[in-house]
Amino acid sequence: MRQQRKEEIMAILYANTRDASEKVTASQAILNGLAKHGGLYVPTEIPKLDIPVEELAKMSYQETAYAVMSRFLTDFTEEELKNCIDRAYDSKFDTPEIAPLVEADGAYYLELFHGATIAFKDMALSILPHLLITAARKNEVKEDIVILTATSGDTGKAALAGFADVEGTKIIVFYPKNGVSPIQEKQMVTQKGDNTFVVGIHGNFDQAQTGVKQMFSDPEMKAELLQAGYRFSSANSINIGRLVPQIVYYVYAYAKMYANGRIAAGEPINVVVPTGNFGNILAAFYAKNMGLPIAKLICASNENKVLYDFFRTGEYDRNREFILTSSPSMDILISSNLERLIYRIAGENAEENAKLMAALSTDGKYTITDEMKAQLENFYGNYTTEKETAEVISALYEKTGYVIDTHTAVAAGVYGKYKAETKDETKTVIASTASPFKFTRSVMDAIDEKYDSMTDFELVDELSKIANVKVPQAIEDIRSAAVLHKTVCEVDEMPNIVKEFLEIR
Ligand SMILES: *Cc1c(COP(=O)(O)O)cnc(C)c1O
Repeated sequence: MRQQRKEEIMAILYANTRDASEKVTASQAILNGLAKHGGLYVPTEIPKLDIPVEELAKMSYQETAYAVMSRFLTDFTEEELKNCIDRAYDSKFDTPEIAPLVEADGAYYLELFHGATIAFKDMALSILPHLLITAARKNEVKEDIVILTATSGDTGKAALAGFADVEGTKIIVFYPKNGVSPIQEKQMVTQKGDNTFVVGIHGNFDQAQTGVKQMFSDPEMKAELLQAGYRFSSANSINIGRLVPQIVYYVYAYAKMYANGRIAAGEPINVVVPTGNFGNILAAFYAKNMGLPIAKLICASNENKVLYDFFRTGEYDRNREFILTSSPSMDILISSNLERLIYRIAGENAEENAKLMAALSTDGKYTITDEMKAQLENFYGNYTTEKETAEVISALYEKTGYVIDTHTAVAAGVYGKYKAETKDETKTVIASTASPFKFTRSVMDAIDEKYDSMTDFELVDELSKIANVKVPQAIEDIRSAAVLHKTVCEVDEMPNIVKEFLEIR
């Protein structure tokens, strides 16, 4: 039976959202990261999840990961993919469940923060390095891969943790010296691993990002690297190798709810996703298209509510003030992965999509047609204010003792609004994207203003006490860890710093 099903799996290719002439294999899409002309790779077809829920319910996280990912990454062998999965979802996670589901106040919180850096980026970045190395081997890339990353906080650490000590790779992370939180900086500069390198720059995140992009597109530097046996690659969230692993946990959550008797087989659920770059909710959309019974995809924004406005009006407009909020990983005005949805509702028309993306880059906005908008009926968008977010954290804690982080609270707040508006009682999964220990100060301030005067680590211990949750290892690790990375440079020194680290010249 199993064998037969396996033979039915067909090859999935990846198309460029901006150029209909480009189609590549899964491994090439992962290796390239970005497609030509700034396009993104999308699967030419969403494979069906042809496994009954009774069977899914018996699977471990790793088995679910194989069931889902093997249907997308069709040029990976069974052995290759299982090897990647086993190396990624191991004891780096502090629970064998990998992504536990916690019921609180009538909703199901899918905790995606049990990995090495206690944010949901670990779900994809713990496997991406292995996918990338496997893809390099398959495509006979001889050079070592050098990952260059600019970060505003979370991605840098998750990428460092993922690539640390992975043979055949080096990773260099640039962060704005005065632009990340103290906990985020400490997490990065204490990173172990001979192949890791962390550099603070005298500049902001945009300058770090621009510096990195310039190195990517510098032909001279590319040639020098090649000579020394290296090539650049990217770990940022537009890589399809980050999106596919994220589909897994929606399938896993559904199977868990069935196994626990919370839903009947085939019963639809809703999902709520705190959204920034639109990667996580797009993964839920792909899960739905695989056949997972998801009814509503509820897109939650903070005060940077460009997506809420888009779902309401059909106009995407980034021309607005950038607001710094207590959910910084969602402070974003250009949600890159939305392009993959736009391409799809444009009838997989690369030319149409490219026009809209060109308008976004020149005018900062675009409007979709009514026909396209009609295809968004399963999406619901809303947002919470800073005040509402804090109230959600405190109210949930008072009622249940369960403490959620600021990003998850945005989602919970939007779910409250959705329910009040629609009276929809469908069982609902809320993607819980960060541990409250990562945003301790905002979380504790929301619960009681008396915590105002405490230091960051005092707050950590207090949170552990009131939530009755052990302090995560990721936080314990940085309490006393030695600072291993002390390099700070000017923006224009970035290329030289990279060459020094790689011992070129
Ligand atoms: C990155 C991130 C998000 C946003 O996810 P997207 O896939 O970019 O929409 C939400 N919460 C946390 C904690 C994050 O780190």
